[in-house]
Amino acid sequence: MTVSKMGLEKERRDEIAANLVAVRQRIATACAAAGRDPSEITLIAVTKTYPASDVLHLMELGLTDVGENRDQEAAPKAAEVAAAGGKVSWHFIGQLQRNKARSVVTYADMVHSVDSMKLASTLDGHARALRSTPLQVLIQVSLDKDPQRGGVPPADLAELARSVESMPGLKLRGLMAIAPLGEPPKLAFARLAQYSTLFQAEHPNATIVSAGMSDDLDAAIAFGATHVRIGSALLGKRAALR
Ligand SMILES: *Cc1c(COP(=O)(O)O)cnc(C)c1O
Repeated sequence: MTVSKMGLEKERRDEIAANLVAVRQRIATACAAAGRDPSEITLIAVTKTYPASDVLHLMELGLTDVGENRDQEAAPKAAEVAAAGGKVSWHFIGQLQRNKARSVVTYADMVHSVDSMKLASTLDGHARALRSTPLQVLIQVSLDKDPQRGGVPPADLAELARSVESMPGLKLRGLMAIAPLGEPPKLAFARLAQYSTLFQAEHPNATIVSAGMSDDLDAAIAFGATHVRIGSALLGKRAALR
């Protein structure tokens, strides 16, 4: 690495470090308001559109959970991080086409976006063939009526959860949701909290609630999120909206 490249990398790491302090402060404030302990919250850094070098910076700053939403980008990035000696947990958080499931099970530790029986059984088959440990999965629940944004309708959640629980290649860990556009996130996350209570009555070990992004992490924490997925507040505004 040239001296000037090293200088830029140091600048970038300082920028991410400062953002991380601010995000941790927001999490602490939201937890205090909700009477929760910040240790209950796992911060997942969403690195989509950002390079593997940023993943390494995050790692040196103590973050070990990284989220990506497209296999085409995540697979080579995960390989690059591994080749550089990096060790992080990869969370696949985007809508997943079944023809990408085979690739995703080779590097992902957790898939947040399981929303159909077909996707679950495809992941199960590949996980059993290619992994030594089950793939951790969350079921994505739809909080609106827009099928474009993914998620199982709440009415179908219980049935899908029972199927996933019966699949030996998968380990059901909880629920994930994205706040709909055009509705205050608090209202949406309040519904998620209700679904989660019903769901956990039947699946007491599946306690993860993945909710909250840069703009609504505070509301998500108020309504029980255990995992927040933070991109732009940590790494900066993305050039292209994904
Ligand atoms: C991009 C993305 C995030 C992070 O969004 P920010 O607003 O940048 O924090 C979280 N969850 C999913 C599913 C995403 O695709």
